[in-house]
Amino acid sequence: MFIPVATPPAPGNKATSTSNYGLNSRQIPRRLPTLHAPMRFGNQVAIVTGAGRGIGHAIALRLASEGARVAVVSRTELNANRTAEEINAQFAGLAKAYAADVADQASVKKLAEQILADFSRVDILVNNAGLTRDGLSMRMSEEDWDIVVDTNLKGAFNFIQAVERPMIKQRSGRIINIASVAGIMGNAGQANYAASKAGLIGLTKVIARELASRGITSNAVAPGFITTDMTEGLPEALKTGVVGQIPLGKFGEPADIAAAVAFLASAEAKYITGQVLTVDGGMVM
Ligand code: NAP
Repeated sequence: MFIPVATPPAPGNKATSTSNYGLNSRQIPRRLPTLHAPMRFGNQVAIVTGAGRGIGHAIALRLASEGARVAVVSRTELNANRTAEEINAQFAGLAKAYAADVADQASVKKLAEQILADFSRVDILVNNAGLTRDGLSMRMSEEDWDIVVDTNLKGAFNFIQAVERPMIKQRSGRIINIASVAGIMGNAGQANYAASKAGLIGLTKVIARELASRGITSNAVAPGFITTDMTEGLPEALKTGVVGQIPLGKFGEPADIAAAVAFLASAEAKYITGQVLTVDGGMVM
């Protein structure tokens, strides 16, 4: 991304030396600083799970736009390929697609080995893959409990365990888990989901404590209501009710979460670990 600024006149150029920023020709620097969006992740490798759609898709694009090479992980090959192709069309050759079920520990282990073979390092891990199977606790099936907890919580653990060794060897790394405000405040009808996200916050803090001495940070981002396939199917009345509880008065966008993730992944966040950053329009405060 590049924001053009007016080019300063070459010193001594008569045609333009009278313009310019209120400076006389001696004061005009040879070059004014240009406002480039910094390539904060040049030479870095990021794994983003659940990057086929929604928030993960936005995170993968955001990190790639700032120079990261991205391992795009999704449950379906179709969606993983689509995101990787989109990145490669815009930021030549930065992404590769991988299909896997994050809940399957053996597959994640193999996949992480493949990613390390393909990219030779991993600097950023974003555990974003997640799903919902809502229902009142009284009626929740074991299957619905298991799939949500296994995907949202065990899936993140699987990836952390698969990449922590190489990160420890590098003595650097950023782990960012996408939790939810439901894991902080609870939500009726989401016993499985809220428990998985509260667990993910606990896991985030454990990993922060275990890996801090190796230069690795671990943080969580807790989105509020974000416009994606996950919230698309909610009844209109419920959506209207939710908006009424959001001080900023609307749902967020995937790019809002991607911006928070990019910050936590960047060098500017080097002194932040074990934290939960809520990005929710002020819902939880
Ligand atoms: P989404 O649009 O439904 O996308 C979910 C992504 O996760 C998809 O790419 C999907 O893969 C992938 N995925 C699901 N199960 C997987 C598995 N077992 N293995 C690998 N990938 C899997 O959801 P979203 O709204 O972007 O949510 C992303 C994350 O943000 C989730 O962790 C969610 O809990 C959290 N979150 C979302 C909201 C919100 O309002 N949207 C609020 C709070 C937290 P395929 O595309 O291949 O199917």
